[in-house]
Amino acid sequence: MSELNCIFCKIIAGQIPSRKVYEDEHVYAFHDIAPWAPVHFLIVPKLHILSMAQLTQDDSALMGHMMTLAPRLALQEGCRPYPDGGFRVVINNGAEGGQEVHHLHMHVMGGPRPWLRG
Ligand code: AMP
Ligand code: ZN
Repeated sequence: MSELNCIFCKIIAGQIPSRKVYEDEHVYAFHDIAPWAPVHFLIVPKLHILSMAQLTQDDSALMGHMMTLAPRLALQEGCRPYPDGGFRVVINNGAEGGQEVHHLHMHVMGGPRPWLRG
């Protein structure tokens, strides 16, 4: 899937509506349309990177940025703090990795259990 018909590129560009959680120069975060958990949002790079399989050393800072944003945004969106609260981070890669949208994204899930999945 190219950048032109990528649903997450369209969300980042504001061509498809989303419920924004956070935005900066490098990343956009928004609520998942089909949440598995009371809190479930996605952090995506603004660059159209297909999956983790395409990452190079040059992407280290971007991935570090996404990882360090996750706990901050999880608290902002209502996850209770560690260790009694917490959150889960998932990145699906490729068909057998369960990836459906081929624009790299980090799922951040949390909130009181039970969850719909996971
Ligand atoms: P994955 O299986 O890791 O590729 O996950 C893709 C995720 O994107 C799923 O959890 C979907 O619910 C979510 N998703 C798909 N379309 C949208 C959309 N328009 N807005 C928000 N989330 C979406
Ligand atoms: Zn894209």
